[in-house]
Amino acid sequence: MVKKVNNPLKIDFQKCIIEGRLQQILPKHITSEPELINIWTIDINPQDSKYFIAFIRRNIKETDPISLLHLKRIQKNPNDKSLLKLILCSVEYIADREDIIKLLESIEKKTPNGNVEKIQYTNLNKDLKVPKEPPITRELINEWSKKFWPMVWNGNPNDQILNDYIIDMDSIRGKLDIISKQSQSLAKSNEIPVVSLFVNPLDPLNHILSIDQRNSTSGCQLDHSIMNGIKKVAEDEVKRRKLEQEAKESNNYREKTYLCLNFDVYTTHEPCSMCSMALIHSRIKRLIFIKPMEVTGSLRPESGHGYCMHANKNLNSKYEVFQWIGDEYPVGSVENYTCC
Ligand SMILES: [Zn+2]
Repeated sequence: MVKKVNNPLKIDFQKCIIEGRLQQILPKHITSEPELINIWTIDINPQDSKYFIAFIRRNIKETDPISLLHLKRIQKNPNDKSLLKLILCSVEYIADREDIIKLLESIEKKTPNGNVEKIQYTNLNKDLKVPKEPPITRELINEWSKKFWPMVWNGNPNDQILNDYIIDMDSIRGKLDIISKQSQSLAKSNEIPVVSLFVNPLDPLNHILSIDQRNSTSGCQLDHSIMNGIKKVAEDEVKRRKLEQEAKESNNYREKTYLCLNFDVYTTHEPCSMCSMALIHSRIKRLIFIKPMEVTGSLRPESGHGYCMHANKNLNSKYEVFQWIGDEYPVGSVENYTCC
């Protein structure tokens, strides 16, 4: 993690653009509509708040799978100003009412005369819905604070994400040049000019180039360049493992790869839903595409149905996506309705 001021990359944190060329593609749910989760809340007496806060710090903060750091832990109870409303934890962390009650029973306080007594609370419920993640602008923080629950402004969380990307511009340019040239030459010979390049982080020099083959004699409708690339990666890995087995004594074999784990993928056209999803299954790290596909694309919020498949909140896996917004790497054109 580099400090923002020491980052050699030029980053436009407002527009989410790196070096004037790589546009970070973000899903809608962190830009406009929050994903909501349920949390456990209770009402407490103001003088007891320090016991609860200490308890949460010791027992909940680290272990709750949902970071609630973007939410204020306590606010005045809107219905009864003499009480405070407190967030205990996410429902994802503890689902059962019985378990929560057991947990609350373990909170004790010392009275002035030295006795230990159980702490009182009322109105335990999990009806309140709050944003799971903080939004990326201060304006949205204010809006969501009014609508859901008071939130804390810790700076734009995406700034850190942008700052932490490991980007090698020269290498990226080299890869885009390869797919751009290949795409143009396919266009000249009237083939579907969609090209992808798969780069294994463990073996970056032996990249795998794949083209669209749905119109070839051996191909079928689903032979998009990304599907073909994934297939090729798997075939190569099988071959490699076989060779490795034969030469086992040599002790000179590379770590086994798993699917396309942590691969960087470069592609000329924004992928369709099948291909975007296939990349989720393949566990790639990053995709960079050149040409947006307004009708069929599945990554940009403005493309297709706005799936943003690489960062869909309903899937348990994600990958980074950038669009190259310079015009250095022209690609062959495809019909609007073509799925790439
Ligand atoms: Zn496709």
